[in-house]
Amino acid sequence: MAKETPFVPVKVKCPFCGMESTQRYIKSRMYKEEVIEEDSHVAVYTWENPEFAMVRPNFYHIWHCPTCHFCDEKEVFRGEDKSGGKLELIKEKLLIHSRMPNSLVAKMGEEIKFDKDVYQVDSAILSHLLAINEQELLSVNMRQYSKLARFYLRLAWLYREKVTLSLEDEKTRPDYPAFRDFLESFREAWPGIPVDEATAMDVALERYRDILNHAQNADVKYEINVMNLIIAMLRRAGRNAEALQMLRGVFGTATKARQTARAAVQKNINTAANQAILNFAAGIIDKVPDLVEELSDIVFKEELPRAKEAVMKMGPVDAKTVVDKLRELKFADITCRRMGKMFEKQAGKK
Ligand SMILES: [Zn+2]
Repeated sequence: MAKETPFVPVKVKCPFCGMESTQRYIKSRMYKEEVIEEDSHVAVYTWENPEFAMVRPNFYHIWHCPTCHFCDEKEVFRGEDKSGGKLELIKEKLLIHSRMPNSLVAKMGEEIKFDKDVYQVDSAILSHLLAINEQELLSVNMRQYSKLARFYLRLAWLYREKVTLSLEDEKTRPDYPAFRDFLESFREAWPGIPVDEATAMDVALERYRDILNHAQNADVKYEINVMNLIIAMLRRAGRNAEALQMLRGVFGTATKARQTARAAVQKNINTAANQAILNFAAGIIDKVPDLVEELSDIVFKEELPRAKEAVMKMGPVDAKTVVDKLRELKFADITCRRMGKMFEKQAGKK
């Protein structure tokens, strides 16, 4: 009997160089996503067969052509992702780079242990970095924000796993003491290369914000999902004041969507779809105020010592000046308002 494996091998032609390689799918029925963190990261997978415990499906999200080092999602390799067509613009460039032994593409690509049965995290990190680097070879207006956002977030997860799961370096680079040194060596070719979770997460956040900035007339559910993801990422990074601001944005977006959908329903335009939006928006509008309250308390508590200190330095002032000056000092709106109120109360007692 053949040995059981979690992989389904599939022969595919590279959309760039045309060479055939064997890529792998994971049999999704064989594992469960047991613990999912707020930013969608699957922290724990459980396998039916415990022998596969060391296989992390997210390592295989990006496919890699071992010949030219083109890296992207399977849909692009299979010709199903139409937006992958933009990549034609960088095809020649990438093929030239892949043949230059000292180029970033060749050096990173050669380190991906494509033939190993099971990927180590370093190979997964490299395939994600290459996929990101390829996207960034495109001029800014040709890039796919959602794809870049997703790749950066997934890269941040890989760096997180390297730390939380204590995944060791693959020791195959004699010139570099550690994997991170190898990555740092690309700093000249790629000044902003993210080499840890925090830096990858920062860029992921920027790219998710890009999605919102370009999301005119987008589906409101999609928009709010992106906003919620941004909130989770900000909270994880300890940027609670920004998360609070985004949470208010969620409320505003849902309120606006509800108004538009209600008007459409009254005019009998696309009733079923708009009714669905109404229901969705109602759920959000119902839930957000409690979350705002909760997060406001956290932000206020965090900023209070610094805000008190700032007020002390102001000398004799009235409540309005306190609020204005705290705003100037970029304190969160909630801190300014609550400090103003506290100040009024104190002044009243005197
Ligand atoms: Zn190729």
